[in-house]
Amino acid sequence: MNKLGVHALVWTADWDRNGAAMAIGKSAELGFDLIEMPALDPGAIDTDHTRRCLDEAGIGITMSLGLDAETDISSGDPGKVKRGEERLTLALTVARDVGATHVCGILYSALQKYFEPPKPSGVSEAIDVLSRICEEAAKSSITLGLEVVNRYETNVLNTAAQAVEMCKRIDAPNAKIHLDTYHMHIEEAGQAEAIRQAGDHLGYFHIGESHRGYLGTGSVDFESAFRTLVSIGYDGPITFESFSSVVTGQPLTGILAIWRNLWDEGEDLARHALEYTRAGMESAHEARAIRSGFDFGEVV
Ligand code: MN
Repeated sequence: MNKLGVHALVWTADWDRNGAAMAIGKSAELGFDLIEMPALDPGAIDTDHTRRCLDEAGIGITMSLGLDAETDISSGDPGKVKRGEERLTLALTVARDVGATHVCGILYSALQKYFEPPKPSGVSEAIDVLSRICEEAAKSSITLGLEVVNRYETNVLNTAAQAVEMCKRIDAPNAKIHLDTYHMHIEEAGQAEAIRQAGDHLGYFHIGESHRGYLGTGSVDFESAFRTLVSIGYDGPITFESFSSVVTGQPLTGILAIWRNLWDEGEDLARHALEYTRAGMESAHEARAIRSGFDFGEVV
């Protein structure tokens, strides 16, 4: 079965000792299998403390980040590319030290609105960097998830098809695609088509609503997403992502463009998301079993 996770920004924007302990404790208490730790500033994380909290709570962890303009490895600017590789290398060290299984997010460009298309030479350079980062990550059994996001957050990977192409070019077994229902809803023909295109390259999955609030209250076709995840045999993490300025604060509120809030209480939101995802995946498995002509009892 897929491990179900929750993004730490449902709980807190501060990954200091108190924030980490609270976020990990709450996630475990609700029944999540893992927490996704945003690491926009990986050097500031007390890895020993985080690992102790995870051990106590008995849950796993993944890590996500987006590069910024100064660390943009697709920019073609040697200084920025160098700083970007250093940032990714540091993120890997932190991921290894906290015991993270995946490092995902916008690892191939900055998380920002671009005003020009990417330069092929810049993308090639990003691929060279990511090949080295994958090699390093493999030593700690870490999978990289290249998150496909909408056009206002990168100019490099907006569709699953583009990400398949990049994975093939990186050509490392731990270079995987990270899809997100919120972004797919904007850019793809449909959830099913995109998930099918990613296929065996899919290694990480975010679920979020069209407005990034409560699941099922927007216009994302989750039934299609869940059924297709089951049909391609996806067995990686499924992590819930939702933002409210009540938690994020600046600069994240601005970076993520949270101009209106869909919730102010993370616990109720996260409990609902877990139940919604579990129920959705269970019913997708049942539907698959019926189509395959198996008895329910044989379905694991
Ligand atoms: Mn996401």
